[in-house]
Amino acid sequence: MENCLFCKIIKGEIPSAKVYEDEEILAFKDINPMAPVHILIIPKNHIDGADMLNDENSAVVSKIFAVASRLAKENSLDNGFRIVTNVGVNGGQTVRHLHFHLLGGKKLNTALC
Ligand code: 5GP
Ligand code: ZN
Repeated sequence: MENCLFCKIIKGEIPSAKVYEDEEILAFKDINPMAPVHILIIPKNHIDGADMLNDENSAVVSKIFAVASRLAKENSLDNGFRIVTNVGVNGGQTVRHLHFHLLGGKKLNTALC
């Protein structure tokens, strides 16, 4: 999608530190890490956010979770990790392209909101 930051990262127009890629999914390091491991996992097909998921486009989400599990193992997150997706203004979503934060490498704050 035009003018979408993450679509530009997918197309290679903006550089990123990629850690996983296949036909449907890209994972790269967050530019402003909130934990020792902070990876963003995104579908290559533009979806605005979790509020726009439906029966037709949501299969990729299970694949994203499988990639998250794989990346957690690769990063030795044996003591646990967190997967977060922010949605819309109230959810704190700043990039309107569906993405899942994989956070770990320290004891994370337990506050949910
Ligand atoms: P959100 O706030 O939408 O849930 O998460 C967006 C995330 O994208 C933020 O954690 C932010 O640090 C990250 N981010 C924003 N711009 C860039 C960028 O150009 N490159 C990378 N790697 N991450 C970015
Ligand atoms: Zn996009």
